[in-house]
Amino acid sequence: PGPFAHPVAAALEAAGDGLVLPCASGLADSWFDSDGQITKRPVRALTLSALAPRPGERLWDIGGGSGSVAIEWLLSHPAAEAVSVERRPDRAARIRANAARLGVDRLEVVEGAAPEALDGLPRPDAVFVGGGLSAALLAALEARLAPRTRLVVNAVTLETEALLLAAHARRGGALLRVALAEAAPLGCGLGWTSARPLTQWSATL
Ligand code: SAH
Repeated sequence: PGPFAHPVAAALEAAGDGLVLPCASGLADSWFDSDGQITKRPVRALTLSALAPRPGERLWDIGGGSGSVAIEWLLSHPAAEAVSVERRPDRAARIRANAARLGVDRLEVVEGAAPEALDGLPRPDAVFVGGGLSAALLAALEARLAPRTRLVVNAVTLETEALLLAAHARRGGALLRVALAEAAPLGCGLGWTSARPLTQWSATL
């Protein structure tokens, strides 16, 4: 936990060290504590772009992990609302700590497994599934989300990707394949190190 109370204060306080919280989505991963389960910066930027937050809207972040997506949703506008649903208690605690450190006090964290844990939550304008999509979860979302809700799902396994292909055939929307590589030391030079490719489905219900 750092000394930061509010994003603007955080930026000013840290400016002397050259550490300033940027305004754009896709913050450096180092702003978030994680155990490795985090949507990495470039994919997070694409994800927030697909989620397309507008002032005052509410996000369900299902499979919160480190909370990075919900936290960036909340940083996008002072009236934004978000809930992160995470089944692992250690990660739920980390989500709370990450939000507190960045001065985000509007993140609701629900410790439990979706879809059961979604019962009783106020209706969202957008839903992100960053992990744990199953046929049951997808069916539950399709059954209960209001028309015009935006849904974005990232899939890294073939099984989840298959669910997304079927969903796209049924409901339309857009499929995006993201295959990124970063330069890393290789021998005495640099080589491209590929991240696992992922498939992103985004649709308006
Ligand atoms: N977007 C996150 C990373 C998600 S990793 C980030 O940026 O940090 C996927 C997470 O989903 C894991 O933490 C896993 O524990 C959680 N998860 C998987 N299935 C779930 C379910 N059915 N309900 C709630 N959380 C789930």
